Amino acid sequence: MNRVRLLVMNAALGPLDYRVPDGMSLEPGSVVVAPLGPRQVTGIVWESERLPGTEVPDARLRPLLGALPVPPLRAPLRRLIEWTADYYIASMASVARMALSSSAALRGGGTITEYRLTGALPPRMTPQRDAALSALEGEQGTIRELADLAGVSEAVLRGLVNADCLEAVEVAIDRPFPAPRPDHAPPDLSPGQQEAADRFVDAVKARKFAPMLLDGVTGSGKTETYFEGVAEALRLGRQVLVLLPEIALTQNFLKRFEARFGVAPTVWHSAQKQSDRRRAWRQVSEGGASVVVGARSALFLPFRDLGLIVVDEAHEISFKQDDGVRYNARDVAVMRARFERIPAILASATPALESLQMAEAGVYEKIDLPARFGGAVLPDIRILDLREESPPRGRWLAPSLVKAMEERLERGEQSLLFLNRRGYAPLTLCRQCGYRFQCPNCSAWLVEHRLTRRLACHHCGHQVTSPEACPECGEKDCLAACGPGVERIADEVAEIFPDARTAVVTSDTLSSPDKIGEFVDAAQAGEIDVIVGTQLVTKGYHFPELTLVGVVDADLGLEGGDLRAAERSYQQIAQVAGRAGRAAKPGEVLIQTRHPEAPVIAALAAYDRDAFYEAESDARRNAGAPPFGRWAAIIVSSEDEAEAAEAARKIGGSAPRLDDIAVYGPAPAPLSMLRGRYRYRLLINARRSAALQQTIREWLGPLDHPQGVRVGVDIDPYSFV
Ligand SMILES: [Zn+2]
Ligand SMILES: [Zn+2]
Repeated sequence: MNRVRLLVMNAALGPLDYRVPDGMSLEPGSVVVAPLGPRQVTGIVWESERLPGTEVPDARLRPLLGALPVPPLRAPLRRLIEWTADYYIASMASVARMALSSSAALRGGGTITEYRLTGALPPRMTPQRDAALSALEGEQGTIRELADLAGVSEAVLRGLVNADCLEAVEVAIDRPFPAPRPDHAPPDLSPGQQEAADRFVDAVKARKFAPMLLDGVTGSGKTETYFEGVAEALRLGRQVLVLLPEIALTQNFLKRFEARFGVAPTVWHSAQKQSDRRRAWRQVSEGGASVVVGARSALFLPFRDLGLIVVDEAHEISFKQDDGVRYNARDVAVMRARFERIPAILASATPALESLQMAEAGVYEKIDLPARFGGAVLPDIRILDLREESPPRGRWLAPSLVKAMEERLERGEQSLLFLNRRGYAPLTLCRQCGYRFQCPNCSAWLVEHRLTRRLACHHCGHQVTSPEACPECGEKDCLAACGPGVERIADEVAEIFPDARTAVVTSDTLSSPDKIGEFVDAAQAGEIDVIVGTQLVTKGYHFPELTLVGVVDADLGLEGGDLRAAERSYQQIAQVAGRAGRAAKPGEVLIQTRHPEAPVIAALAAYDRDAFYEAESDARRNAGAPPFGRWAAIIVSSEDEAEAAEAARKIGGSAPRLDDIAVYGPAPAPLSMLRGRYRYRLLINARRSAALQQTIREWLGPLDHPQGVRVGVDIDPYSFV
């Protein structure tokens, strides 16, 4: 091969051809550096028949500058990049950039110097040297690590190096991760779990594409079950990817994984240090990371030999990325499994309607775990009709809920109050003049956070210190908080039960893995009586003394811009209800609502998941909504309002007229201003059989807009704000 076609990491450029200098050996997937005008650009060698471009005569080709020291991206990952770009109407460069997500890793790893004992004794022995020599038997590490280990100063160890008692060893900086042991601590499975586990083991052995839906109530032991599939992949020497919806769940997962396999898995998420990401990326590509647990971006890692993908809490909305490439990691995970020819397990207690539909159609194999593990029974669910039993003025907890909490406090058990709203109050206004605090960059109210004495926008991050006087009329002591957030509920608990130990659990209070770990330890040790939390507490945790769950406002989820609001509400409340009574003690769930007759609430009360899914399916079928039809959204934005409106009108005006695709809008988006940009939206509803992506490409492709206008396409959207 003396010429190659490159997919270059610049979305504005098409494929480019280059000459391969003599002596450079490349194959499809090789990552290279190429000249681009006076600059350099990273590119991936691609099959030219799959990446059409204009032919450039040999004589005009510029030579590549070099190949990067990483293994070529394998064909299944290249196919996944093509598919994702095509399906979500994104550029291949922006998808490929997610695969090359650690620029440090691409530059290659270095080496560091470590030291170990030679066996020689120093000519002059001191008590410190003596202590170091015995502490470092069989150890190897940097001087600093060894000094920590031996409890001596680094100077003592340098003296031992000079005396030839310690010798230097050069080791690669990005070492392989310790290998998980498939037979470290095999679990005791119930017969139902064993049957599911056997199915996963067989599927991993078969080395075939097999999408599977693991459907089990909370507490049924889904994790233990799919761990057996993980163990089988490890026995075969293959790699495993486990996707979790949020980093907050990772700590708990790591503990369970380590108990089962002896060592922790490799972690991948965007908040990691550069050096940790580099090591993880390199070892994933070289096979020295056997099991990766990560956020959605782990989906595009360059695995050397992937044998199984698990998507845990597969119904979670956070698998959907809402900026950049707007992909759904759950769906892309199934596609990756297809290209890799391996099984994919989607695990959930409340599967997405889309996944259930695929199971019903026979596309996914459905595996059920109906019973709670260890004989624990499902909690009792009671509806509190707030129209009949309302909380006292200025309070949010109804008397029956307070009474139930009181009983728990007397018995030394724990209560959990769930309200999916961060901060103290969602709106602050002036009682004198009616002024409302609004974000200057977004059409959204500022949320009061009393713990940090700030008003904050939850959309763009804008913050101001809570003022003492109204900025409009200047009155002091006139600002009123409207509605509750978790902090306000915690205040109410403190007023009613001054001695109760309360923890507020939100992304504000649990902002790091360490803080999450501290909270979990305290809760498990019985040092917390009442947990007040957002959706962060709805899953993953297992607190044996937690016997009461109070849902403060079950109607909240039905508001807002979620296209699947009823389903999301059902999932969230069912998940949080599942926290109650997970061990020997039975649990109770109290749901506060003003709409006890709503299908979501009625189904929760009756434990009738099937009835809810049936009613929701009927509604979606009638509306042509997913999974029976398809949606897409077009978002037009600009800093100039008139420009945004004009571009949206132009797009609306040239909408295709087809029998199987309907276009609604443009209209100002519910969040009509976001981060200083004015926004308009169009919603597209298509029959399943329609050529949705192709139609949108042909529609939007020829349209020109002013430079400041951005047009984003969201295929299978979740949020409609
Ligand atoms: Zn005022
Ligand atoms: Zn804002």
